[in-house]
Amino acid sequence: KRMVAQPLIALSHASRHFHLGGITVQALEDVSVSIKPGEFIAVTGPSGSGKSTLLNTLGFLDRLSSGHYRFGGNDVSHATDHDLVHLRRHAVGFVFQQFYLLPRLSAQDNVEVPLIYQGIPRTERHERSRQALERVGLGQRLKHQPNELSGGEQQRVAIARAVVKDASFILADEPTGNLDSSSGREIVDVLAELNREGRTIIIVTHDATIADRVPRRLRLLDGRVVADE
Ligand code: ADP
Ligand code: MG
Repeated sequence: KRMVAQPLIALSHASRHFHLGGITVQALEDVSVSIKPGEFIAVTGPSGSGKSTLLNTLGFLDRLSSGHYRFGGNDVSHATDHDLVHLRRHAVGFVFQQFYLLPRLSAQDNVEVPLIYQGIPRTERHERSRQALERVGLGQRLKHQPNELSGGEQQRVAIARAVVKDASFILADEPTGNLDSSSGREIVDVLAELNREGRTIIIVTHDATIADRVPRRLRLLDGRVVADE
C-alpha cells in the first residue's frame, strides 16, 4: 500500500468577512491550502493582507465565514465553542509578537500554564516545563521573571510554553516583530530546530531574510493566496 502523508490542515474556499458599519472587509477570500505534518511555512504579505486572520482561524481562535477547515481529517468548520476550546488547549501552540507572559510568574511557571489547563499533575508539569525551557536554551533561567529576561529570552519562554503542550502544530504571528535582528535570528533558529525534530510550524513574518530560510512560503494579498512556493 502506498503511503501518502495526509494533510494535517486543509482549508478549502475559506473566507472570513468582517461586517463593520455597512462595509464588509474580506480579510480572507477563497483560500485553499493544504499543510502536511512536519512542514515549516512562512506566511508573508503586506499589513492588512489577512495573515493574522489566517493564523487565528487555523489556531481555532476564530471561525470561517464560509468554506471548510479540515483538521486531521475532521471538518472543524462547524465545531462547537466547546470543541474549539478543546482544540485550542490541546492541538495548537501559539507564539505572538507581544510574548504575553504573565509578569509575576517565573519562566517555568509561565510555561506550566497550558499544562494546568490540560489538567496535568504538578510533578509532570515541573518536569515538562524544565525540559521545554532547556530545549530553547533557557535551562539556566527557570526562576527568572519576564522583566529579568531580554526580549529574545522572553520570546523563547513563549516558544517553550507553545511546545510544552505537545500540540500538533505551532503558530507564530510575527514572533520577531519586537526583537532586534540578532535576537530575531535566534528565534528563527529555535523554530527551525523544532521543525527538524518534526514539529509543524507556521510563522508570519514581514522579514524577507526570515522568509528565505523557510522551505515553503505563502504570500497573501487582500485576503487571497497569491503565491505558494
Ligand atoms: P495582517 O495580519 O496581514 O496585517 P489581518 O488579518 O489582521 O491582517 O487583517 C486583515 C483585514 O481584516 C484588515 O483589513 C483588518 O482591518 C481586518 N480585520 C481583522 N480583524 C478584524 C476584526 N476583528 N474586525 C474587523 N476587521 C478586522
Ligand atoms: Mg497581523
